[in-house]
Amino acid sequence: MFINGEWVNAQSGNTREIIDPFNQEVIATATEGNQKDTIEAVHAARHAFDEGTWATTTASERGEIVQELANLIRRDKEELAKLETLDTGKTIEESRADMDDIANVFQYFAGLADKDGGEVIASPIPDSESRIVREPVGVCAQITPWNYPLLQAAWKIAPALAAGNTIVVKPSEITPLTTVKVFELIEEAGLPKGVANLVLGPGNSVGAELSENTDVDLVSFTGGIETGKKIMQAASRNMKKIALELGGKNPNIVFANADFETAVDQALNAVFFHAGQVCSAGARLLVEESIHDSFVEELVKRAKNIRLGNGFNEQTQSGPLISAEHREKVEAYVQIGKDEGAKLVVGGKRPEDPELQHGFFYKPTIFTNCTSNMRIVQEEVFGPVLTVEKFTSVDDVVQKANDTIYGLAGAVWSNDISKAEEVVSRLRIGTVWINDFHPYFAQAPWGGYKQSGIGRELGHTGLEEYTEVKHVFRNKKPQPIGWFN
Ligand code: NAD
Repeated sequence: MFINGEWVNAQSGNTREIIDPFNQEVIATATEGNQKDTIEAVHAARHAFDEGTWATTTASERGEIVQELANLIRRDKEELAKLETLDTGKTIEESRADMDDIANVFQYFAGLADKDGGEVIASPIPDSESRIVREPVGVCAQITPWNYPLLQAAWKIAPALAAGNTIVVKPSEITPLTTVKVFELIEEAGLPKGVANLVLGPGNSVGAELSENTDVDLVSFTGGIETGKKIMQAASRNMKKIALELGGKNPNIVFANADFETAVDQALNAVFFHAGQVCSAGARLLVEESIHDSFVEELVKRAKNIRLGNGFNEQTQSGPLISAEHREKVEAYVQIGKDEGAKLVVGGKRPEDPELQHGFFYKPTIFTNCTSNMRIVQEEVFGPVLTVEKFTSVDDVVQKANDTIYGLAGAVWSNDISKAEEVVSRLRIGTVWINDFHPYFAQAPWGGYKQSGIGRELGHTGLEEYTEVKHVFRNKKPQPIGWFN
């Protein structure tokens, strides 16, 4: 852990074995912090913020340090990518792409750091000046999940530092490796003591303390909806600001006039990429009735050929699930789908390949005959499981696609752009792709409608989340008012 500029172990001496999900081998032993260590880290961040040197560094200087982090991540890309693949099982190609995205995120926020010069307001009061300035929020706690360990951390660390905050980062206890490595880079980049702190450990002690601690001004969390609710409740203790990036059950809508080959190919990518462990996975496919059967037939044929394997093998298309516990959750959902009457048309079991027996693999799985009222359609499985429903019209598909508590992302496939745009305008979701699936980048905001979250990451909005807005009013000719004479 990195607290107040020092590398430290947990005071309790506790440790946790970090497991490679491909073969269950122990790849590292991490120190396991608890509430006590967290309180120390928060104190360090509080002191560094209140003491003021970081928040009052010029925005250009902060931008330079954040840019230096982008450079260091690019320099160490291969090492970081290998660590991410070891820790998560994702393919090395995916990890390399993640590292490029991460460096781009740091570069983007480095560039934004000194672009907001505030705003002068047209004051309605004579002889006055009115202006808006943005200031850092203060101490920010940043809690991240295991599916994109470093990417999710980067979305938080880069804007928070660019805006002049101090931070305490808590990665998922099962995937801390790349975040630890990036803190080595943070040290190398020369951030002042206490500005960036790292605490490792479980959610119910480290995460809970970060959410409750009244010295924390903002908690930014990416993870599951139930954890999000707990954090929201805990954060109410001192009315801290919250930013929540939660789950999704994302509709992928295919009209009959879409390009068939592209839509099939991308429907597979939408849901089976990273074994479906993607918050924006297109896990809910809605296909126009007239092409439903041929579309499903092609999907099934191709889903059978997806090559599961070791993430370090360049031939592998998809790695394992993250843990034994998570695979059991996915299996339980498949059973629920069967019990609800959905038709299992491919997958629905672990692979038999002897080479995959030590990993947490699960076969790409597709259910047809699905309806909106089924749990398999409504709830986030977070695994390689696709549900397919038919639709008959724009009204029908809009109604079905919006019929969920989530509102994170989704796509519309059609060669009729006005039809696609009509659907897009009626979807209650934060990111919509037309004739594509998955693109996201530092320049555009990311986040959910409804119960998929609160606030946005990335883009201008992602920086604004880490600022307070101050209105400064100056009377140029102060005089007595005489009201109480
Ligand atoms: P999770 O909610 O179990 O854990 C996320 C983090 O919260 C971990 O660091 C965990 O230790 C911590 N945590 C657990 N209990 C806590 C508590 N009581 N207080 C504070 N922190 C606590 O989620 P996960 O299983 O790691 O990740 C999967 C979930 O993340 C999925 O639901 C997925 O959709 C979501 N996700 C969302 C986005 C997005 O951008 N919207 C991105 C990635 C993942």
